[in-house]
Amino acid sequence: MRFNEFKIFSNRQLLKNLCESINLSETLKQHSAGEYPEEEKQLVSQIQHILTVLGYDVGSTGVDGKYGPNTARAVGQFKRDYGLSGDGSEFGEPALQTIEKLASGEIQPTRPFRGQAPSRGTARGGATAPGDMGDGLRGSSALFTMNGASRMTQPNAADNIQATLQGPYKRMVRLFGREVRINDAIARAGTSRETNTPGSQHFHGRALDLDISSFNNEERIRLVQAAKQAGFTGFGFGNSILHVDTGPNRYWDYDISTFGGVRVAQLGNYVTGRA
Ligand SMILES: [Zn+2]
Repeated sequence: MRFNEFKIFSNRQLLKNLCESINLSETLKQHSAGEYPEEEKQLVSQIQHILTVLGYDVGSTGVDGKYGPNTARAVGQFKRDYGLSGDGSEFGEPALQTIEKLASGEIQPTRPFRGQAPSRGTARGGATAPGDMGDGLRGSSALFTMNGASRMTQPNAADNIQATLQGPYKRMVRLFGREVRINDAIARAGTSRETNTPGSQHFHGRALDLDISSFNNEERIRLVQAAKQAGFTGFGFGNSILHVDTGPNRYWDYDISTFGGVRVAQLGNYVTGRA
């Protein structure tokens, strides 16, 4: 299944979710290269994502949190299409209101929605990858070594975890558009896994617990899509973690019934290919 064929969110619902997470306290303005304010990056990323969904091209760098010439061109086209005054160098309340009307169905889009384009760059703070993603995860933490690992860990776990990080994890990050913090990987000695879940893929080095505590619903769903597309086959849905592994194709939840605003059963059908 291709990324943009996954219809758990309709584009309008996606747009609605994106709008609800926006907090536009003042008009955003285009900046020159090298002068993109850190504190605006999240908001600019959200607007770039919305413009992308609405069918506008925000440039080859995609969603990067930088309100530069490409984003300004997209904003300008958007304003022209919907009869808003001003050029693309500013994005303010009238533009946001138009997007809200599109999300609610009050006005119809002038061009077809395009769905979610994969984004690039690290637009938001908080989530970091372990070590150097560009060069084989150098300096990775103890989560990925046999030091302190459970005695129940399988002999090939160290090799498996490297394969998991270099393969599906790396692909997932590329599809998702930014790095995702890993909370746990190889099962550690003395943890409850040894008694509670001795069959866990964490003993095989094929499982990662992804930290999603700072993610909104749209990001949670998009991460599931990216993880599935990247080749993960096992999914555990929690409030603050998403467990992914390359073991048997299955899913479970950690005492939640919805994940990212979607019923876990529905997501389970998706990740197991029944949707
Ligand atoms: Zn796990």
